[in-house]
Amino acid sequence: KKPTELADVASIIKSIYSATLLSGKVALVTGGSRGIGKAIALAYGALGAKVIVNYAGNAQAAEATVNEIVRNGGLATCVKFDVSDFNLVQETVKSLEKEHGNIEILVNNAGVSRDNLFVKFKEDEWDNTLDTNLKGAFNCSRALAMSMMRKRAGKIINISSVVGLTGNAGQSAYAASKAGVIGLTKALALELAGRNVQINAIAPGYISTDMTGALNQDVLAKIIEKIPMEKVGDPIEVAKAAVFLASSSSSYITGQTLAVDGGMTMH
Ligand code: NDP
Repeated sequence: KKPTELADVASIIKSIYSATLLSGKVALVTGGSRGIGKAIALAYGALGAKVIVNYAGNAQAAEATVNEIVRNGGLATCVKFDVSDFNLVQETVKSLEKEHGNIEILVNNAGVSRDNLFVKFKEDEWDNTLDTNLKGAFNCSRALAMSMMRKRAGKIINISSVVGLTGNAGQSAYAASKAGVIGLTKALALELAGRNVQINAIAPGYISTDMTGALNQDVLAKIIEKIPMEKVGDPIEVAKAAVFLASSSSSYITGQTLAVDGGMTMH
């Protein structure tokens, strides 16, 4: 089955959730230019949030996400920054809050996957993966935690991976970064729970995006054999969970990791 056309995300999401579910909220979605982040940005935009779409270099894709949100009657803007750069993130987020108001929803989605056999792993592959996937989540959360605490309102959603729960041969850095994201989620949830700031993670299974698109049919067939629901996931299926965790539907949930994986992992 082909993934949902991104042009259809808004209408599907609106058929499930109230179109005003996230009205008045400002959401920052890192890596919102493509794949899972794009579906989340489109879903939030369809439900009334003002969406700030972050990207690393792909301005055209980021602008396309913004245009799609606006075409559906939503509010959005895009901003380029590298989530792994601590100082840049702090400065950029500060100026974004000045311009758009308090950011109450942060989705730490930007991620890369540098795969290699462990004995062949290069230092820069390790650093790049950890810096983007784990330090990136730290940098963005650090930039917003104080203002969320002061406002006593905030939702941080960290996109981990099933690989962070189970490990995966050839993905030591990626698995370590994604397991780290779950640890960060729990520790931060404990620190901020008393201030009404909730931090949860989503662990997607195999989702059809650019990141996974390069696999050949044989590899894909082997992956599908391991998925109880016998199909790969669609970015919109992760977006649905990200809407739940960003909204008041999840008002008493913090520190959790929600697997969106067709039953691949049960923990
Ligand atoms: P894609 O490769 O399709 O998109 C990656 C996104 O991250 C792009 O928007 C890219 O921006 C952005 N990005 C990458 N590096 C940086 C950076 N340093 N700073 C800011 N933005 C950056 O990925 P997916 O949509 O597949 O994955 C999204 C998240 O979901 C990742 O964290 C991934 O690990 C996780 N995930 C994905 C799974 C899957 O099966 N696809 C499974 C489990 C987890 P640009 O467009 O500018 O390059």
